[in-house]
Amino acid sequence: MSHSLLDLPPMGAAHFASIEDRVARLLSTRQDVVITQGEALLPLEGAIRSAAGPGTTALNVITGPYGQTFGDWLRDCGATVIDVTVPFHTAVTAEEVRDAFAEHPEIGFVSLVHAEAATGNTNPVAEIGEVVRAHGALFYLDAVASIGAEPVLPDAWGVDLCVIGAQKAMGGPAGVSAVSVSERAWARMAANPRAPRRSYLSLLDWKERWIDGGRKALPHAPAQLEMLALEACVERIEAVGLDTVMSRHASAAAAARAGALALGGGLEPYVRDAAQAAPVATTLRTPPGTVAADLVARALAVDPGLPLAAGGGALAGEMIRVNHYGPGATADVVRACLTGLGGALADAGSTVDVAAALEAVDGAWH
Ligand SMILES: *Cc1c(COP(=O)(O)O)cnc(C)c1O
Repeated sequence: MSHSLLDLPPMGAAHFASIEDRVARLLSTRQDVVITQGEALLPLEGAIRSAAGPGTTALNVITGPYGQTFGDWLRDCGATVIDVTVPFHTAVTAEEVRDAFAEHPEIGFVSLVHAEAATGNTNPVAEIGEVVRAHGALFYLDAVASIGAEPVLPDAWGVDLCVIGAQKAMGGPAGVSAVSVSERAWARMAANPRAPRRSYLSLLDWKERWIDGGRKALPHAPAQLEMLALEACVERIEAVGLDTVMSRHASAAAAARAGALALGGGLEPYVRDAAQAAPVATTLRTPPGTVAADLVARALAVDPGLPLAAGGGALAGEMIRVNHYGPGATADVVRACLTGLGGALADAGSTVDVAAALEAVDGAWH
């Protein structure tokens, strides 16, 4: 066993703050960036409980499983929640958000998932941000599955609470996450008597005990290994260039889509419009008479390393996820996934053309 992971010098406040600053640069933001020492569900829940309360009317856009969870937290905070549910094969439009404001002008909080790794769609945040800003509402965004795969620009888009995690397209650790917080969002939290304080979910604790003191002393022992992994992962993105990392994800999504169509056997992109398909992961609809979870199990039995998964819950029957993110955003990984799925479909009696699929992957790779 290596002891190099155990015998590290302690991480000081300046080092911790420098990692926050690098994450802020990745987001092109001048807002405060708080690194939260847990998986992304921590800042996702903390930000909602901090900013929403009994006086809040929240528009909650549901384009996948996370939106459902956010609605549950909002209701638990005492907020009045207006859910807009969009079929999982598509994205929400700015028009639908505008309509919701027209019907409910009292909306003061909007929660949205940028890209959904679980359903494979991505939402037009810039356009929606304009609508939200025009109505003065606070804008909360889950960018866990978009950061690193496509542009995430909280300042340009008017996002007040932008949550990221490193475990998807950034190819980093899952045990730390971050949220950028606008001045408006801090003011909303300060005015919320129910905002968590002296709590693991509290963002205000970090503001008072860390940011307002000039980030000179850490309030708790840092999750050092995770912080070093986050720093290494941001360093790697900086070295290659964020644009290069994002274009690799865009290529992987285009290649997976083209490859699946060329493979045949009844496999289809789950998200109908390519412009609404997330660069982080491609979801596929399985042909009638097959079960997605069975096809994935067959493919994994041959090649256990493939980043394939069946859809969650009720989607396990009809949806396959190709998780071509992080180190998986390569043409080889997409080729291997289509080869595996082609084999599984052939075993199940479908006629497929793996050679055509591989050719389509190469043709679509930019
Ligand atoms: C992956 C993901 C998260 C993080 O949750 P996990 O349960 O760790 O996967 C949060 N939001 C979205 C949209 C994600 O895709």
